[in-house]
Amino acid sequence: MTDKISIAVIGAGAAGCFCSINLKRMLPNADIHLFESKGKALAKVAITGGGRCNLTNTFRGVKNLQEVYPRGEKLMRRALSVFSVEDTCAWFEKEGIRLVVQEDECIFPQSQDAMQIVKTFLYDLNNLGVQLHLNESVTNIDLNKWSRVVVAIGGHATLQRLSLFDGLDIPIELPVPSLFTFNIQGNWHQLLMGTVVEDVQTFIPSTKFRSHGALLLTHWGMSGPAILKISSYAARYLAEQEYKSPLCINWMGNINEQKLRTMLQDMMQQHAQKLITSSYPHRFSSKLWNMLLTRMCIPTTQRWGALNAKQVNKMLSTLTADTYQITGRCPFKEEFVTCGGVSLKAININTLQSKKHPTLYFAGEVLDVDAITGGFNLQAAWSMGYMVAKHIFTTYQDNNQKT
Ligand SMILES: Cc1cc2nc3c(=O)[nH]c(=O)nc-3n(C[C@H](O)[C@H](O)[C@H](O)COP(=O)(O)OP(=O)(O)OC[C@H]3O[C@@H](n4cnc5c(N)ncnc54)[C@H](O)[C@@H]3O)c2cc1C
Repeated sequence: MTDKISIAVIGAGAAGCFCSINLKRMLPNADIHLFESKGKALAKVAITGGGRCNLTNTFRGVKNLQEVYPRGEKLMRRALSVFSVEDTCAWFEKEGIRLVVQEDECIFPQSQDAMQIVKTFLYDLNNLGVQLHLNESVTNIDLNKWSRVVVAIGGHATLQRLSLFDGLDIPIELPVPSLFTFNIQGNWHQLLMGTVVEDVQTFIPSTKFRSHGALLLTHWGMSGPAILKISSYAARYLAEQEYKSPLCINWMGNINEQKLRTMLQDMMQQHAQKLITSSYPHRFSSKLWNMLLTRMCIPTTQRWGALNAKQVNKMLSTLTADTYQITGRCPFKEEFVTCGGVSLKAININTLQSKKHPTLYFAGEVLDVDAITGGFNLQAAWSMGYMVAKHIFTTYQDNNQKT
């Protein structure tokens, strides 16, 4: 390989660093310049997973990629076929980073230290000769200056970050936050702060948005996997509603009204003489059950056998479709991503190249691709970073063979 190829990678985060390292290994003679606006590379990776870095997921139990990638599912199917979870694990293990799989299928470094990833990447960048330019914020893209440009500037819930595309005619999907917790009207939840109910279903009435998982009551409202998931699925809808919307909870998880009716009838027969507060489904703490009874307008002195039809109906509707009012959102400090960014209509999803400017590529959260929590966001950064490197390498090889 004799020709010099000069590549600018903008953004030294997960996708930009991963792309640069792999690209330099594939094209050792290329001049790769990695630009980072901050004083250090990989600042976000260092705080991922509460400092432990949930770097990927086994994807076991994921039936449909859209469950984990509400935006960009098709692109991710393609990206994972180029650089899979197995490839990711093998890549990190080869770098000397032992990995562990948790019971919930999340994958972490065995060291439980995100800095191990950061240090490994920094070592590789330096050792391979990628030229890292810190404190250099790229404000416009000069496609004539470089053989290839890779944009990996991450997500940010404002349009300002994307102004470097001005003049390039790149369609943008309005960026809005994803993965947040809900402020909920009322003060009842303050008494129940810290209460967890495993396996609830949440849904937003009159929409297709629903989720399933554990729910955590907090002093400001609701959090936990079920809430984070629905905040991701409905990120754009909730932004349009200015974070004011009803939210329904099926406290019984997968149990529907019909099934619950049978269960309640059994309770009424078997525990006829028992107080409604002394016998109730195991999933509830006594504090939460008492709060739910208040919402059902059923007195605590009531006995199971004496429930009338109206009370049974109220219990059924409260337990399976209990409606609350979302009044705002709170950032989820453990992980926070952006929905929106460079529109997938602007790129070829098989190569991550701009349709309009074939020497321009995108990787990572700058694209309108984002995931729920669990290591899926970083997996997207690794797969896309690799995919771009591989495509640049392949096209360069093809061009060289032709000349
Ligand atoms: C607190 C927190 C915890 C998280 N934990 C996890 C987790 O455990 N697992 C998981 O899968 N995901 C996690 N995520 C999400 C994950 O970190 C991101 O999805 C991922 O980092 C995106 O990678 P990226 O390379 O696209 O962007 P980033 O990693 O954000 O990198 C983009 C880089 O570009 C730089 N940049 C921006 N604009 C410019 C410019 N104009 N010029 C030069 N440089 C620029 C930025 O400074 C940044 O360094 C977490 C997110 C947060 C906020």
